[in-house]
Amino acid sequence: MNKILDSKTTPLLCEDWEIELNSMIHSKYAPIWNTRIGDRIGEGEFRFVKNFQTEFLQAKKNVNYQTKQSIISFIEFYRHRSEFFRTRLFGYNIKEEFESIPLTTREDLQTKITEIIPTDLDLSKMVINPTSGTTGKPILAPNHPMAIGCYVPLIEFSVERHGVKPIHSPKSTFAIQLCYQEKTIEYATCHSLAGGAKFAKINIHPNSWKKPSDLQNFLKESSPQILTGDPYAFESAMKMGIEYRPEAIHSTALELTPALRLKISNYFQCPVINFYSLNETGPLAYSCPFDPEWMHILPHDLYVEVLTKDTKIPVPTGNVGEIVVTGGRNPYLPLLRYKTGDIGDLEYGPCPCGDHFPRLRLLSGRKSVYFHKPNGDTINPIDVGRILRKKPFIFQFQVEQTKSNEWVCRLSLETEVIKNETHWEIEKDLLQKELESLFGENSKVFISTNFPLDGKKQLAYINSYQDKIGVNP
Ligand SMILES: [Zn+2]
Repeated sequence: MNKILDSKTTPLLCEDWEIELNSMIHSKYAPIWNTRIGDRIGEGEFRFVKNFQTEFLQAKKNVNYQTKQSIISFIEFYRHRSEFFRTRLFGYNIKEEFESIPLTTREDLQTKITEIIPTDLDLSKMVINPTSGTTGKPILAPNHPMAIGCYVPLIEFSVERHGVKPIHSPKSTFAIQLCYQEKTIEYATCHSLAGGAKFAKINIHPNSWKKPSDLQNFLKESSPQILTGDPYAFESAMKMGIEYRPEAIHSTALELTPALRLKISNYFQCPVINFYSLNETGPLAYSCPFDPEWMHILPHDLYVEVLTKDTKIPVPTGNVGEIVVTGGRNPYLPLLRYKTGDIGDLEYGPCPCGDHFPRLRLLSGRKSVYFHKPNGDTINPIDVGRILRKKPFIFQFQVEQTKSNEWVCRLSLETEVIKNETHWEIEKDLLQKELESLFGENSKVFISTNFPLDGKKQLAYINSYQDKIGVNP
């Protein structure tokens, strides 16, 4: 039999996990799966994550979060192992001059990644996930299965704080991630760090189901404890009238506005947990069960600063600035005052919910941007990103809907590509056709190549037409 998972992708796989997973995969209601993904957790990774979890829970209990003083040992450790740390810290007394240490930018991650990766590391287990989301240029953030494995105890902690007790059994489905895209990867797997509990990523777009009623039946049959996804997927699920009552909704916090959070919570009749996580840093914060406007710093090994935009000095509590992080557990990507590009404020002190780690408030959730076809159908911008990111010569992009049937696509390109005019005309033509076919009949796409490449977090998707006419999807 063609196995779903094997000892290479899931070293700790047991027979009973496989039986349960197979019945999910081969359910008559199942979507059209197109990928197989294992957790790559072996004995060593398993031990690492369990140790991390013990330390993490202990730190939470004792309110031991990272401070400017405690993070020094992390920086000292990498000062001797990463060329980037060595150069950046040259001549600095980091204890006395912490605030003068130059900040790491997204551009540094894009251009100096080989210097950042510590020397003498075994690179064979490296996993590379380009970041996606609302910015136009992907960062290649190298990661290790053991650091990815640490998402499990961190996510579990965040749901437990909202009253959900994860069931560690292969019979249980812990989470189903919902997407709404024309095309995306879809898979089901089981997780060694959760006793073989199942996890699946499904596309709720009608494209991906044999029969329209299958989605509803699949959710009911697999009965996940929680649903995860971005606000776009939850909005689509509500529009489609999906009837399922999870124990909680786990949503990416950056795009979730308070109004939408309330709407989702009312619809699914369960708590909505905001989760702030970046590929570069891993999970950063989760929403406080007592006051959802605030998010507690989640891990115990990241030092979070909030700096003013101009002077780059830490702002006093209660003032808004840029979120900057140092530390983490990704062996390939130690962070030294990394500028996340996200804005918020930080507050210290005890919290009535019982988690006394500092609280972060992200400046009003970024509003999700949707595009609309001339016939009114919605387009997920991620589908636009999928088309543009396929082209290795596109460094950064911004796509704006300017009229009901017009889009402007601004690109910053590898210079070699524009130099060869004939070649570029062909590529441009192809790109234009592909985008127009996504945007629907009678759509027009104008491509320009003057988009600046400056390493800043630029908005990748804008719908100025919708803003102008005030349509609310
Ligand atoms: Zn709290």
